[in-house]
Formats: sequence, C-alpha cells, structure tokens
Amino acid sequence: MLADMLNRIFGLETEYGLLVQQDRPDHSPTWFAHKLRDHIFHVQRRGVLDLHHRGHDEPPGNGGFLTNAGRIYLDMGHLEYASPECESLVDAVASDRAGDQILQQAIDELGWSETVSLIKNNIDHETDATFGSHENYLVTRRFPFSRRGLGPLVTFLVTRQIFTGAGRIGAASPQDAWIQMDRLIVPRAAIGHGPDVSQMPFQLSQRADHIVNDFFEWVQQNRAIVNTRDEPLADPNQYRRIHLLLGDSNMAEFATALKLGTTGLVLQLIEEGHAPHGLEVDEPVETLQEISQDQDREWIVRLQSGRTMSAIDIQEQFLTAAQAHCRGQDEETDWVLAQWEAVLRDLRGDYTMLVGRVDWASKLWLLETYREAEQADWRDPMLKSLDLEYHNLHPGRSLYHGLLQEGRVPRLTTDTAIHLAMTQPPKNTRAYGRSEVVKHLLACGGAPETDHAAADERFFPAYVINWSIFQLRGRTPFPMPDPFKTYAQDVRAHLHTA
Ligand code: ATP
Ligand code: MG
Ligand code: MG
Repeated sequence: MLADMLNRIFGLETEYGLLVQQDRPDHSPTWFAHKLRDHIFHVQRRGVLDLHHRGHDEPPGNGGFLTNAGRIYLDMGHLEYASPECESLVDAVASDRAGDQILQQAIDELGWSETVSLIKNNIDHETDATFGSHENYLVTRRFPFSRRGLGPLVTFLVTRQIFTGAGRIGAASPQDAWIQMDRLIVPRAAIGHGPDVSQMPFQLSQRADHIVNDFFEWVQQNRAIVNTRDEPLADPNQYRRIHLLLGDSNMAEFATALKLGTTGLVLQLIEEGHAPHGLEVDEPVETLQEISQDQDREWIVRLQSGRTMSAIDIQEQFLTAAQAHCRGQDEETDWVLAQWEAVLRDLRGDYTMLVGRVDWASKLWLLETYREAEQADWRDPMLKSLDLEYHNLHPGRSLYHGLLQEGRVPRLTTDTAIHLAMTQPPKNTRAYGRSEVVKHLLACGGAPETDHAAADERFFPAYVINWSIFQLRGRTPFPMPDPFKTYAQDVRAHLHTA
C-alpha cells in the first residue's frame, strides 16, 4: 500500500442516473430511488437516517450517514453517494467504488437487476439532464482564493479533461448549452456561437457543455468551474474546502486517482506559491468546451497573453512544476507524478494507448470497434446506448466491466478492499470517529421508526450527525473540526459515558 498524499483530504460526490426498462412504465426512476434508499437504511441497516431537516431541501429521512462514514441521500429525486473524507488516493478510489457497490447490491437484493440499471455518468442523452460529480479538496485558509490566485487552477482544470474526461457521443442540444455574457446566462444558440453541435460525433467531456461560468457560488443552474461557496465542513479559521463541479464521473480507477492526485498537487503548488504563471486561459468556459469538442484532438488553447499552446503542453508545465517541488514527499505523490508524465506522453501518440486508463479513450475505442464491425456511422442510435452501457454498474452489462474482465484495465484497489470500504471508514481521518457513532446508533436500534421529539421542531431529535459535528439527545455537541484527526478515543469515551 502506498503512503498517503501529503496534507490533503479528498471527498467525491456521485449522483447516479437510474435507467428503468420499458416494461416498468408504472414506476418512475424517483420511485425506484426512494425504494433503494429505504432498503439500504431499513433492511440492510447500512447507516442511520437523518432525523432533522438539513436545510429546506432535505426533510428528515431524506438520507443519512453510513457505517463507512459516507452519506447516501436523494437530491431532487436522484440518488447521491458522498464518500467519507479520505487522506489517500487509494482510500478515495475504494470508498468511491464502495458507493457504487452498495447501490448495485441493493438493486440485486430487491430482484431488480433486470428492471433497473444504475448509470454512473453525467448526462441523460434524451432529456439533456445532468448528474453531478463533485470533487472536494481540503486546503488551508492561506490558500489564495481570489480570481487572480485561482487563475492557475482554472487553467489546469480546463485542460485536465484530456485525461479525466469520460467521453460522450454528440453534444448538449444548443438550447441546453449556455454561456455567460455580460452577467447574463444565454443559450449558445442565441448568439450563433460555436460549432454546429448537431454534427458532433464524440467529445472528451460529459460536463463541459453544461458549465456556464468560471466562478459561482451556487451548485444548481449556474454551474461553474470552481464553486465559490465557502463551506469548509471543518474549522473555518484553519481550512477551506475547494468544491469542484466540472469533472466527469470516472469508471476507471486510474482516472479517478489521477484526477484527484494531479488536482491535489496543483492545489499544493498554488498554496506554496510554485504554480506556473503566464498560462491564464483567455475564455475559460469556451475553451473548456472547445477542447472537449475538438475532433482533431489538437486541443489548442488561446492564453490571455496572446500566445497559443496545446492542452498537453500546458499540462506539462504543471507537471514540471510539481516534479520540481513535490517529488519525493510521499509515495502517492511519486505515483501521481510518474503516471501523469506517462499519460501526457501517450496522449501525444495514438489514443488507443490510453484504453483502460482514460475513460474517453476506452469509450471511443469501443465505439470505433462497433462502428467498424457494423459499418455504422456516428448517427447510429446504437452508439448512444453503448455510451450509456459503458457506465452501467451491473457487471454483466457494463462495457467498462467488460474491458476489466479482458484485463485491459489497471486496478488500484482490490475487490476485497472495496468490499471492506462498503462498511468500514478510512482509518486515518475523522470519518473513523463518525463511523463509531453510526455503528453505536445501529447497535442501539438505529433510527427510531417515529421520533416523536424530532417530529416536534421545538425538541432535539435522538441524534444529529454532520460532517464536522454530531450530537446525541441530552448530551453536549461533539465537534470534529479537524478532518485529519480520527477522534477515535474521545468518541468512544463520549458514547460510553452516560
Ligand atoms: P451539495 O451536495 O449541495 O454539493 P455538499 O458538497 O456541501 O453539498 P455533501 O453532499 O454532503 O455536501 O458532500 C460533502 C463531501 O465533502 C463528502 O464527499 C465529504 O467526504 C467531503 N468533505 C467533508 N468535509 C470535507 C473537508 N473538510 N474537506 C474536503 N472534503 C470534505
Ligand atoms: Mg452532495
Ligand atoms: Mg457537493
């Protein structure tokens, strides 16, 4: 096992698509999402449901924390899994995969594996709805969170899709592709901007068409490259949480780890004043979309300085800075540096070199193989369903899983590690302490069927759990402001003193 990434906490949130087969028109995806959540909490008893309102969007019982210290909840009718706080990339990948398996196992147990598919992707090809993938990174309060300070991060994020993108057939229909102009959000189509997307065969990123802003505070509607809401979920005097909304959900473990690892290193470069300068991108949101949609894969970017540079060359500048300043600090950092270098080198050659490591490359290769075998053109409707099936979590249907079975996909975890992460928290973060609380409450009977006190808003429910604090009724609150501490001893003492 590799040593952990230096001073970083990672968390991934995944919103899943639910595909209901034609023969169940009587139930909506939302109905299935509710039943899955109920099965996970009431039958499998994997965690404890919230007994309190979490903001006005989340009534009591909407979701809850799991024994692995992550969270499952419903967000506007969609199932979301938020991983526990992880200090290592391997833990982050294992906890992320654990969420997939918790949900897939619930489907299997309910006997719905022929009826319902869980899709870990970011777009609904029919409705242009999107499913979120949020990345969370802990940085210190000293992090220069200003437009200028964030410049290098934006450049990095706009160009990293060449190895983090999950790929997609086509593009968002023009009325769903938006762009910000003079403080107004307008459809791209309204200003006759950009290429004719109806002709777009394939692009790198699922989310790029749906990002409209470089910085913005709110998550819904106005999706930004960097979300600026200041909610550290930790001691606000010491920490800040960088909350990113622009990435795709990755199937490949390698891509997930490289995405989190490279981004973590770039945050470190910025924090320590070593980020490369003079690479600020001229129009970040448009550039994000142009790189994604570039059919020639040249990925030429116009910088504010007036220069043009390829996305690979830009990434290489970040890599060189990270090699100079971060090499040797821990084993995971060295793994990231070596793999980042290898991927950038391979991206200069034939994309098929990256099959198994980079999701868009795996998907494009599968689609091209089909196209060749069937002599199909890019409008063949079968391609859309292959695109979707790449992300299916059912091992028998998932095209990603097919590649894995063929030995084309490198692994960073093992099946055993993922299985453990379904019930156990990472061992070196405060997730460990929270897990003790959840397990304790389950041992005491879990969520009361009706908590009469909680039903009356004047009274405190049996328990309240949040990322950085918990409280049991009749007891003092137990803050956990430092995500790097496990709080194990203190939590146990707290739980076992009357
Ligand atoms: P939304 O769903 O509206 O985006 P959110 O991102 O604030 O809300 P959650 O869905 O609960 O909240 O997910 C929080 C994520 O942040 C989890 O994956 C968790 O592991 C991670 N996390 C918690 N505390 C920290 C922290 N201090 N720094 C970095 N990540 C954190
Ligand atoms: Mg969330
Ligand atoms: Mg989030």
